[in-house]
Amino acid sequence: MLRKLRMGMVGGGKGAFIGDVHRKASRLDGQIELVAGAFDIVPEKSKAMGDELFLPARRVYGTYQEMIAGELALPAAERIDFVTIVTPNKSHFPIAKAFLEAGFHVYCEKPMTMDVAEAKTLQEIVKKSGKVFGLNHNYTGYPMVKLARDMVRTGEIGAIRKIVVQYPQGWLARAEEKAGSMQASWRTDPKQSGAAGSMGDIGTHAENLAEYITGLRVSEICADLTAFVPGRMLDDDGNCLLRFEKGAKGLLHVSQVSIGEENGLAIWIYGENGGLEWHQEHPNYLHVKRINAPVEVWRRGNPYVAAKSPAAAKATRLPSGHPEAFFEALANLYSGFVDAVRASDAGTKVADDALDFPTVADGVRGMQFIETVVASSKAGAVWVKMP
Ligand code: NAD
Repeated sequence: MLRKLRMGMVGGGKGAFIGDVHRKASRLDGQIELVAGAFDIVPEKSKAMGDELFLPARRVYGTYQEMIAGELALPAAERIDFVTIVTPNKSHFPIAKAFLEAGFHVYCEKPMTMDVAEAKTLQEIVKKSGKVFGLNHNYTGYPMVKLARDMVRTGEIGAIRKIVVQYPQGWLARAEEKAGSMQASWRTDPKQSGAAGSMGDIGTHAENLAEYITGLRVSEICADLTAFVPGRMLDDDGNCLLRFEKGAKGLLHVSQVSIGEENGLAIWIYGENGGLEWHQEHPNYLHVKRINAPVEVWRRGNPYVAAKSPAAAKATRLPSGHPEAFFEALANLYSGFVDAVRASDAGTKVADDALDFPTVADGVRGMQFIETVVASSKAGAVWVKMP
């Protein structure tokens, strides 16, 4: 298939956050073109967004249902190949289901669904459809995260003993949901966001990052969730003790009321022979620690990184010293997703490294994490097994 993949988008209207990031990141490698969309819950606003993006009016739809019907009515050579879903959490499931059942590949934002039951149903739908499903845990797209994963895999730090992962933010320290913030209003509403607030919004990223790098699955959680802002219905802060398989222990804390913090996602992993440390706000560096030795700072784009982790090298576009970050990490996930879609459509086997992007299985894990955390906290911060 020697052409760009045709992308449709649901969500990402004017003033929305992540839709525009997807539009930019998906263009980075010249493999994808945006050709259609239902960009806003308000049909008129969807049309206005389409105009702003210079899309032909006939490919800009008022609703996602109209988009599916409109696209299916087009000749196959014009139709979208896949849809990216960048709406609030509550509509991920119905939209993903409808596009998969209509025969389209899907790239979806996290958290994947509203609960575990929906997540498992979606997993079945993906399997039955035979289509590719990508889930946007974009932090796994960073080269130095891939290096960390490969260092763990090759035994560089030995058997893992302890994992500390955090994701503090401060932007919800006041009741922004009452001050007109679109992003805050649905995130703090259980009907639109799901059973957890901060734990669903950013805790799932922390959980996914810890499992991705270490290859260990969380087996038990003891969680304490709090809604600090008066009247808020969902947690804006949470602290968890974690037990992983194979005896590793850990801590995970997230917050959206930690004033002064922006996107402080960071992870520390300690093994029998060494440690690793990575900070999302300084993503081009991985700190490597060894017994009785100075801390090493591994820097993205260097040959010694490529030698240790071909996946990190593959995920790198610029030479060392020219910073790469959020857009590039998302572009890396799109790159793997595109390879998988091309292979799927050609009926060929997908190379293993092309599968290096989160899928529906990660989405099920994310929902299980949320349910376990909420159950633990509601029961008074007791240990609860994670499936
Ligand atoms: P937002 O409130 O900024 O934008 C949501 C957009 O979706 C709006 O334009 C709204 O009109 C539109 N929309 C809602 N329902 C729709 C429907 N049925 N059809 C068409 N459009 C519809 O939200 P956001 O902050 O961009 O978050 C969107 C999703 O992305 C959420 O699930 C969120 O968790 C996720 N997200 C992920 C990351 C990440 O780093 N991976 C970052 C931010 C948000």
